[in-house]
Amino acid sequence: MSSPAGAGKTSLSRRLVADYADMVLSISATTRPARPGEEEAREYYFKSRDEFEAMIAAGELFEWAEVNGNLYGTPKAPVIAAMEAGKDVLFDIDWQGARQVAEKAPNDSVRVFVLPPSWSDLARRLHARAQDSTAIIDQRLALGKREIAHWGEYDYVIVNKDFDRAYADLIHIYRAERMKPGRNPWLPDFVSELAAEE
Ligand code: 5GP
Repeated sequence: MSSPAGAGKTSLSRRLVADYADMVLSISATTRPARPGEEEAREYYFKSRDEFEAMIAAGELFEWAEVNGNLYGTPKAPVIAAMEAGKDVLFDIDWQGARQVAEKAPNDSVRVFVLPPSWSDLARRLHARAQDSTAIIDQRLALGKREIAHWGEYDYVIVNKDFDRAYADLIHIYRAERMKPGRNPWLPDFVSELAAEE
């Protein structure tokens, strides 16, 4: 899932993993310093640039990208462990990361882009959070403008005008994608048994 900051992607993804035990949220590594209220291993694994580059060199990242001068990446091992346990994994990543995931796992990934109802609404939400200075907010808004240019690469686009409605849309996407035949390895046996029944 991708979106400009402030469009509600984090709230949507947190709600989805809270409601669906089969969905887990991937925790990224980043070289960005923690914001007030953020905790190690909850929002991110906070790394130095050297540590992050060592993770890249060791092939430990499923995807990674530079966003606004900081490095962000998805640690591979927890994703593999979750998938082996039959879970779905939600990535809160930028368009560069979403593109890499789609290239590496074309049949196993679904890309969703979340748009704000208006740019002024987005700016208002970022200011209301009071997490960042005005200069940083302006920087995040400019980054958001570049992010939304990639909306057409996504499988689904949700306009988050109303949180409950946007969340309902997200669930519909998740449930429908979950019912694709190839995503349910138990189906062939199940159908064989059905066919064998009198
Ligand atoms: P923030 O610094 O606001 O938490 O995140 C900035 C941007 O980096 C957001 O668009 C977020 O989705 C993206 N991002 C966070 N983690 C990852 C990651 O692991 N990989 C990539 N490619 N982008 C990420």
